[in-house]
Amino acid sequence: MAFDFDLFVIGAGSGGVRASRLAAMAGAKVAVAEEYRAGGTCVVRGCIPKKYMVYASEFARSLHHMKGYGWTVENATYDHNMFMDRMHREIDRLSGIYARNVRNAGVEMIDERAEFEDAHTLRLVKSNRTITAGKILIATGGTPSLPVDIEGIELAVSSNEMFHLESIPEHIVIIGGGYIAVEFAGIMSGLGARVCLAYRGETVLRGFDDDVRTQVHEELKRKGVKVITHASPVKLTKDGDRITVHFSNGEMAGGDKVLFATGRDPNTDGLGLAKAGVKMNAKGAVIVDGSSRTNIAHIFAVGDVTDRVNLTPVAIREGQAFAQSEFMNLPTTFDHKDIPHAVFAQPPVGVVGMTEADARKAFGMVDVYKTRFRPMKDMLTGDEERVLMKIVVRAEDERVVGVHIVGPDAPEIIQAVAIAVKMGATKADFDRTCALHPSIAEELVTLREKFVPSELKPQT
Ligand code: NDP
Repeated sequence: MAFDFDLFVIGAGSGGVRASRLAAMAGAKVAVAEEYRAGGTCVVRGCIPKKYMVYASEFARSLHHMKGYGWTVENATYDHNMFMDRMHREIDRLSGIYARNVRNAGVEMIDERAEFEDAHTLRLVKSNRTITAGKILIATGGTPSLPVDIEGIELAVSSNEMFHLESIPEHIVIIGGGYIAVEFAGIMSGLGARVCLAYRGETVLRGFDDDVRTQVHEELKRKGVKVITHASPVKLTKDGDRITVHFSNGEMAGGDKVLFATGRDPNTDGLGLAKAGVKMNAKGAVIVDGSSRTNIAHIFAVGDVTDRVNLTPVAIREGQAFAQSEFMNLPTTFDHKDIPHAVFAQPPVGVVGMTEADARKAFGMVDVYKTRFRPMKDMLTGDEERVLMKIVVRAEDERVVGVHIVGPDAPEIIQAVAIAVKMGATKADFDRTCALHPSIAEELVTLREKFVPSELKPQT
């Protein structure tokens, strides 16, 4: 049977763009459909604008630091409109580059939504055109998930709207304790908002190492963020411009903006996956195997829509492995182990590998090396921020199985450390490496003393 295209990709985000370009460059006839803007969540309403907002907000603290170094800065002010305008112009530029690169690779870029009609047929919703393809890649990403059963939830915004704020709110209430909640708490606080972060658990960043969680939680509070714990939102009400969040524990928090950062859902609604026979899990994520193949042999899925590890570089690698395997005769699987990741909190978090708790569960005996210290730069600024560095080592062979950093440049440091961890470096390899002085990262190669949990210390 002759198809219109060898490959049809739904979604021109990080994974879809990488896969479609590589397949087209290998000679395949490829089309990619995008209902919103090329670049996807990362470029348009995720990593890139978020990081610009982190940069914008960090200047408040830099201004304070400058005084400690003898500088006088008079009348420094922040112009939100100017910043937003510049940021969005940069996003437009990047999105344009994504679209251009796709076209330059010979891919047909279709600026509208595509939905399945059957396992080989897609319908373009706006033009009502029908297209057939030999292989189909679902790369539709994810979307913020707000608990719809909460009364008044329509008064809240998601991260999508945070990139289009007309002004910085005076008070903002942030619901959630994950990546997005913690990152926006730092951003909003740095830009001058009074921030209340409400988390339903005990300590933010569930899933991260306990020491990292405690450190980030404490730093949020130290930076003036009001953190309410054990607080599940049950209702939102509005009085004038003020929105009040009512919590299950009887507490309330009010602000002129309420952000729900309560996770993201895979983007599969209305995609017609049932018509194609593609199986999803209970959360609506497309189920795939290690080669990103669905239960239908010629349909694949990569990135957040599969809800594996929801990070841009992972979607890119999954898209690349798919294109190499299916169109370049280079069978490739992407290894999801030891993926470095960061939370752009203030100070930021950088992590690779296992938490101490997971390592203890997996290996029994582990050695832990950790330190907490004030960075040299802050000695003159009076800032009380602390750096945390932690190395988790499998005792049986001294292999470093986890590195956790909270502190300035942690994401930059961890990207390099991830190479060593991926290569299987041991603690002895770290120790053999000469320190670079003075730096924060040098602590990674000078940690000598094993940390003994108090319950394991001999009684004196
Ligand atoms: P996360 O899954 O990280 O966190 C969701 C938070 O919301 C958790 O604290 C969760 O609590 C809480 N929550 C969930 N449902 C409710 C509810 N009904 N009521 C109250 N609280 C609730 O999601 P995010 O939205 O922060 O981020 C989504 C994903 O995007 C991340 O997991 C990550 O993969 C990606 N991302 C990555 C970034 C990066 O790499 N720097 C930055 C931003 C996003 P609990 O802990 O109890 O489950």
